[in-house]
Amino acid sequence: MKYDISVHSVHGSNLLKDLTGKRFGRLLVLRRDYSIDDHARWIALCACGTRTSVRSDRLLSKKTRSCGCLRKDRAKRFQKR
Ligand SMILES: [Zn+2]
Repeated sequence: MKYDISVHSVHGSNLLKDLTGKRFGRLLVLRRDYSIDDHARWIALCACGTRTSVRSDRLLSKKTRSCGCLRKDRAKRFQKR
C-alpha cells in the first residue's frame, strides 16, 4: 500500500482537506477528530446512527464508506449472538 508522506506531516489545517459536511457512502462527516494525533481523522455519522472515527485517506480513497454496518448487513445471517 502506498502512503503519501504529506498525510503524516500535517500540523496545521493547510494540508488537510476540510471534509466537514461531506458524504462518503453512508457516512456524513461531522467534525475533525483531535483525539488521535498521528493521522488526520474525522468523526463521521453513519446512516445507521453510529458515530465512528475515520482516517482522511480512508474516506478519500473510499475504502471506508460506513461504520462497518455495510459489512455487518451482509454477514448478519452468520452472526451467532
Ligand atoms: Zn453504520
